[in-house]
Amino acid sequence: FNEIPSGYPIPGQTTVYDESETIDLDTVPLNGGALVKLLVVSIDPYLRGRMRRAEAKSYNEPFKIGEPLMNWGVGLVLRSDSSSVKAGDHVYGYFKFQQYEIVDATRVLVLENKEGLPWSAYVGVAGMPGQTAYHAWKEFAEAKKGDTVFVTTGAGVVGATVVQLAKADGLKVIASAGSDDKVEFMKSIGVDVPFNYKTTKTAEVLEKEGPINVYWDNVGGESFEAAIEYAAKGARFIECGMISGYNTSEVYQVKNLMKIVTKQLHIHGFIVTDLMPKYNPEFYSSFVGRIGRGEIAYKEHLLVGLERAGEGILDVQSGRNFGKCVIVVGED
Ligand code: NDP
Repeated sequence: FNEIPSGYPIPGQTTVYDESETIDLDTVPLNGGALVKLLVVSIDPYLRGRMRRAEAKSYNEPFKIGEPLMNWGVGLVLRSDSSSVKAGDHVYGYFKFQQYEIVDATRVLVLENKEGLPWSAYVGVAGMPGQTAYHAWKEFAEAKKGDTVFVTTGAGVVGATVVQLAKADGLKVIASAGSDDKVEFMKSIGVDVPFNYKTTKTAEVLEKEGPINVYWDNVGGESFEAAIEYAAKGARFIECGMISGYNTSEVYQVKNLMKIVTKQLHIHGFIVTDLMPKYNPEFYSSFVGRIGRGEIAYKEHLLVGLERAGEGILDVQSGRNFGKCVIVVGED
């Protein structure tokens, strides 16, 4: 991490790729830990939020200038001093953006991969973003057959997973995305009313297809405002993210907040890590199996080489990704 961005992160400036540090894989001391070769690392929207001034408080720590970024990844254990993992294990954890890292082996999860998924899936639909969709849908949607839900970023990993959970629960699904290709993909996963929010006004779609009983918010701003306007009384709002504001200092003024009161809306903000203890066991024991059996569709946006991390970060913030953005760092 090289510099705090003022707008969109700039590859090669906000973040730089650096090969100056090397280690000897055979002799580096492990001190009770495990030497892991990183295979894939995830690029998620929230990484932008960690690129902030040290004093700006949030639910997570800001990245430190000069230090590697970190995020969820899957690695291969090369050597281990710990009884919790052994050489040859594939592990899921929170890793530095480095080819190799010595980790505390008690903080990684050994993946058996009975489902035979690509490792990249374990940082996407079968990892933190899939958990975001699954856990919060279970916790807050109060889904009823015949209800209508509006999902934003419906072609992204979180949004597309929510769409499929909602369809399985018998809801009518309205979903938005930022390109016609993404609209086609949303159609293919069962969205009843897919639309491109860049060419069609969200408020017009919701006026025609609403009122909505559930709103899954990934973007904030105008979509949030339209969702309030066309919400049914007592609708559940699942406030997952507000990416339309991540790269600008301008704050969108939502004009109809009083309708939260008059429509008696239930607004649920959440951070997925707090829901993990409650829902991770069933996620791994049942949902990942459904992914393995091909019952949950997902798309990936794979970039090969750690030097492309900066490009991936910008892709996700600007909507150039089509599917879950993952950096393929090393070969198995
Ligand atoms: P995606 O793969 O969907 O990528 C982000 C997408 O956001 C882009 O592809 C783009 O899609 C869309 N986007 C970018 N800029 C804008 C904008 N100005 N207005 C509207 N849409 C925009 O990401 P994820 O599925 O990983 O994450 C989706 C959301 O979930 C994010 O808001 C993220 O912060 C949130 N999240 C929250 C968690 C929590 O614990 N609360 C955990 C994980 C994710 P398009 O082309 O359709 O515009």
